[in-house]
Amino acid sequence: MKLSPTLIFFLFVHLLNAQVQDKVDFVHGNVGVYVDVDSLKIKGSVEYTFDVISQLDTFFLDAQNMKILKVELNEKKVDHLYTTKKLVIHKKLKSSTKNKLFIQYETQPKQTVYFLGWDDDIPGNDQVWTQGQGKYTSHWLPSFDDMMEKMTFDLNFVLQESYPVISNGKLVKTDTLPDSKAFLWQYDMQKPMSSYLVGFAIGDFHKKELKSTSGVPIELYYEPKDSLKVEPTYRHTQHIFDFLEKEIGVPYPWQNYKQVPVQDFLYAGMENTTCTIFSNQYVIDSTAFVDKNYVNVNAHELAHQWFGDLVTETSSEHHWLHEGFATYYAYLAEKDLFGEDHFYWHLLGTAEALKSISEDDQGEALRNPGAGSLTFYEKGAWALAMLHERVGDSNFKQGIRNYLQKYAYQNVTIPNFMQEMENVSGMDLSEFEREWLEDPNFRYVEVQSFLMQKNASINRFFELKEQIGERLETAENHLKDIWDSLGSSQLKQHLVLAYANHFSPEFLSIILRTGDLKVRQAVILSLEKIPAEIQQEAEGLLSDQSYTTIESALYKLWGDFPDNREKYLDDTEELEGFPNKNLRVLWLTLALVTPGYNPGMKPSYFEELNGYTGPEHHFETRLLVFQYLNTIGGYSDETLKNLVEACGHHVWHFKKSARDILKEFLKNKEGSARIKAIYPLLNQQEKQYLDKTLGE
Ligand SMILES: [Zn+2]
Repeated sequence: MKLSPTLIFFLFVHLLNAQVQDKVDFVHGNVGVYVDVDSLKIKGSVEYTFDVISQLDTFFLDAQNMKILKVELNEKKVDHLYTTKKLVIHKKLKSSTKNKLFIQYETQPKQTVYFLGWDDDIPGNDQVWTQGQGKYTSHWLPSFDDMMEKMTFDLNFVLQESYPVISNGKLVKTDTLPDSKAFLWQYDMQKPMSSYLVGFAIGDFHKKELKSTSGVPIELYYEPKDSLKVEPTYRHTQHIFDFLEKEIGVPYPWQNYKQVPVQDFLYAGMENTTCTIFSNQYVIDSTAFVDKNYVNVNAHELAHQWFGDLVTETSSEHHWLHEGFATYYAYLAEKDLFGEDHFYWHLLGTAEALKSISEDDQGEALRNPGAGSLTFYEKGAWALAMLHERVGDSNFKQGIRNYLQKYAYQNVTIPNFMQEMENVSGMDLSEFEREWLEDPNFRYVEVQSFLMQKNASINRFFELKEQIGERLETAENHLKDIWDSLGSSQLKQHLVLAYANHFSPEFLSIILRTGDLKVRQAVILSLEKIPAEIQQEAEGLLSDQSYTTIESALYKLWGDFPDNREKYLDDTEELEGFPNKNLRVLWLTLALVTPGYNPGMKPSYFEELNGYTGPEHHFETRLLVFQYLNTIGGYSDETLKNLVEACGHHVWHFKKSARDILKEFLKNKEGSARIKAIYPLLNQQEKQYLDKTLGE
């Protein structure tokens, strides 16, 4: 058989993909990039220093869709091949030599680097930020997709704007470049890390500086417009930092720590080494704090600085070592802040979710590299909680310390970790591994009895559930007399969520009058219909200090008591709610569909609501409004254009939702005619998507 040259070429590239590059060791990367916000391009160079471990003729770097302008090895031109994915260098190199590879390149990244707000006229909303994990740093920097290749980096950024550049390591220099209006930002990472953890964020950011008790500088970034939200957003940051250092028992392994909130981020947060980038939907006020705060994500990303950044998985089969650990340590930090009830009841919630997928035969083993996030994060946290319990607290802590110290700045596997736990405990943990890491099922019975034993209020909950059984209408008889003595807010919330629709108005009224904020919230969230007898108490919820409570109360009161709609709207007109504006957009929607309400204002309500679908707004707000407008049939042409734009958005689940809404819209003739009418207003990419969707 003879293979075609193209096929040989593809096979060659394929072999490179599968190959572990173990004959070379890259030790340092000196990166210089010009972030060109006019052309949305990265123009850069990188010089790598590497050791040859054993003689070789060829080696490669990952570099996606770049224009490679120059490649030099030890300051001389060198034979190379570029495949749009890999840069392959051909050169015989002897072992035990030190070499320098220089690459100059240019690229307009389709992913990994996101430029936002540069094409509108809104001052101060321009940002550039990166997401390297799962998106590959090699889209903007010739580097290594293989997590095993760790090195130190010097990162130099040049920008024509006066915005700060925030990146990995220590800022060693800022400068204005001679004869130009460009600014230089120079960062230094002293310790080695994997390429996927290289990242940067640029924008109109100010910072607040703290120091951990151990002396590590912590920088908390924010946009000037959010200065009053800095305290609630970053509340407990120093406590979390101090707690994790103490609990993990190994000092924070890097020079400093920074956190930057950005617009339209792909996830909740990303643990770039020393530089967490997170969603600005966590930039909140004090009222939002009770329902949706940054504490868990704050602790999770910080825990990754040890679990993921200091010790990094060799491959995704060992992903538990990242996500399970970060999730578990974040829960421990929350336990320290908010108490045992908070911790154990939250674990009960994740156990219920895992039980339900396990019962549907959708359970996944933690060792399965293709497992979903519920498995890696929540089952992963559970596996650690149960291991902690099995080996005991002091063995667990010693095992963690040994593991982190032995493999610091290296790569790890699950067997590496389990070996340390076996060594320190003297136990054979193979049964634990079978039960928790290899079995796709979730051991609900075991965790339920663990929770009942650890937490008195959870124990009480299951006792009461057993007494009430299927006779839900008897729940009140079981609970009424003991309600005050139940104590735990979490217990009351869960009983309300389980039985509120079977409680009498008298009992509901007592609960609303005496319950705390979260218990009252549980009432309004669970009630399918508000009984007329408790109308007044329910109206009181409109002034509770919780945006979740007010949203649910407004929606349900408006639905159940039509005579008072105008009053409810008057009472809540000034509220905005969470960063996604949940209250404002609900209010506008209800105001529009309440016939007699401020008729003269309707056009401006309509315009404001439709305006929130524009690309300058956060995708969470846009999605809410697309859905509300879909329900009330109120799409303006501008909104339709925004909907088509959203169909190409970089946040995958938003894009998918927008595409689903558009498809639905196109199902009827009228909708399809309206979309065709706005066709000339669309850009090339949007037209192409529409052509494909319309089948034309
Ligand atoms: Zn994580």
